[in-house]
Amino acid sequence: MTTTATDWRARAAALPLPAHAFLDGEPFVGTGERLAATSPLRTGALAELPLCDEREVDAAVAAARRAFDGGAWSQAGPRERKRVMHAFVDLLAAHREELALLITLETGKAIRDALREIDSAGRELRFFAEAVDKVYGDVVPTPPEAFGYSAREPVGVVAAVTPWNFPVMMPVYKLGPALAAGNSVVLKPAEESSLAGVRLVELGAEAGLPDGVLNAVTGSGEVTGRALGLHPDVDVVTFTGSTAVGKLFLRYAGESNMKSVWLECGGKSPQIVLADAPDLERAAAFVAEGIFHGAGEVCNAGSRLIVEEGIHDDFVELVVRESASWAPGDPLDEATVVGPLVDRTQFERVVDYIGVGRAEGAVVATGGGPAAVELGVEPTVLTGVDPAMRVAREEIFGPVLATIGTAADDVAAVANDSIFGLAAGVWTSDVRRAHRLARELDAGSVYVNTYDRGENSLPFGGYKQSGIGVDRSLHAFEKYTRLKTVWFDLS
Ligand code: NAP
Ligand code: MG
Repeated sequence: MTTTATDWRARAAALPLPAHAFLDGEPFVGTGERLAATSPLRTGALAELPLCDEREVDAAVAAARRAFDGGAWSQAGPRERKRVMHAFVDLLAAHREELALLITLETGKAIRDALREIDSAGRELRFFAEAVDKVYGDVVPTPPEAFGYSAREPVGVVAAVTPWNFPVMMPVYKLGPALAAGNSVVLKPAEESSLAGVRLVELGAEAGLPDGVLNAVTGSGEVTGRALGLHPDVDVVTFTGSTAVGKLFLRYAGESNMKSVWLECGGKSPQIVLADAPDLERAAAFVAEGIFHGAGEVCNAGSRLIVEEGIHDDFVELVVRESASWAPGDPLDEATVVGPLVDRTQFERVVDYIGVGRAEGAVVATGGGPAAVELGVEPTVLTGVDPAMRVAREEIFGPVLATIGTAADDVAAVANDSIFGLAAGVWTSDVRRAHRLARELDAGSVYVNTYDRGENSLPFGGYKQSGIGVDRSLHAFEKYTRLKTVWFDLS
């Protein structure tokens, strides 16, 4: 049974909103500066959260360190850690609608997608709950007078700094493997969407994570995020966000304690369509979904369409037709597929970029301006885009597709002509060509005859300036464990 928009609105109005961070097993209200949680659906602040300063970040890191050294989690047997993490997933499911509403209120994401985000975050966390006892080292061949092995050990205190576009999923990508491996975590959610992050951390405590193992510091990037990046007792920073801020974390590490820094950053992912694509209508539907889903505020949005010249005009027409089904609407209506953008700054940025494209000589094939919904942008297709244009090179993070027509032999070169390398899509019926392109494309994920599909067991990460390291899959443990070598002399 579907819940009506009126029901969702009534629930949203009655929803208790956190007004605290979460430190050492307790809500932390603080007495210092405040940070306003805002919504594209309302005027004024939704709630006020503490803007955690250096001292408060220090208290969170100290709590995380005490918890780690105390061993209640870091030394707990795998069966116990598994039990608590499964309980955490159960609580996520029990609070599905509450968390989804927080996401929709703070980001404008369609409630349909927000509910899906909670479901996929649950599956992701379940994967890591199941993986707790599957991370191990090796006994290596040695001469009989010696015994040598390697073991995976938790690193210690992990700071997770996350973006606003997936307020539950991005934190889960980090804390799933970090906690499963036995670390303590301090989460710093993006200021645009901190409420869901705080609730997530509280549910972890309710599930039985010992005090200090999972903390949330709310605040701004410049103060709270920077303090984590520079903190001498943080062992690992795991970050998702823009490339520019990712680079700052590399600097912070160099200026402080050389902590490891893992980055999931921006993208300008190509969707390549060749004339021999198995089904052009299907390809057009995926191309449209690949860029317009989530209003394009998605890291692996397929924001460049690279299409073989011979089919260019016909294919663009199909994409334009498909784009009509991605018009923004009321995000609290379950029938709505896309809501407004996250805030006015982002809205203006995206509208400005469309202007930049026009000024550079691109043609607006459809869309091109504000949608009927406040802070919504029409699904926009630009054609006549040259690979040198800013709209072909910079991440717009909105519903704007830049179309480049090219010869079949040049698609890989055009696709790879980018500082980014997060994802890429290829549509072709020629299996040899598909295999060749899958390897030639400089991207962390390549989708063949589809776009943006995956499993918990497949890694997700960027090449080039899209990142360092991967989330998801057992490979994620490489970020949150250290490999120890032990050598026994038995002679
Ligand atoms: P962002 O502006 O880079 O912010 C990301 C996080 O860094 C936020 O928590 C932010 O805090 C913090 N931050 C900002 N300035 C900082 C500073 N000077 N020092 C320390 N921390 C700082 O990114 P966003 O706008 O939230 O998210 C959009 C970006 O994320 C896009 O580029 C998108 O491609 C990328 N993304 C990548 C992936 C992936 O898996 N590769 C997934 C999702 C999103 P405040 O917000 O509180 O300032
Ligand atoms: Mg931000």
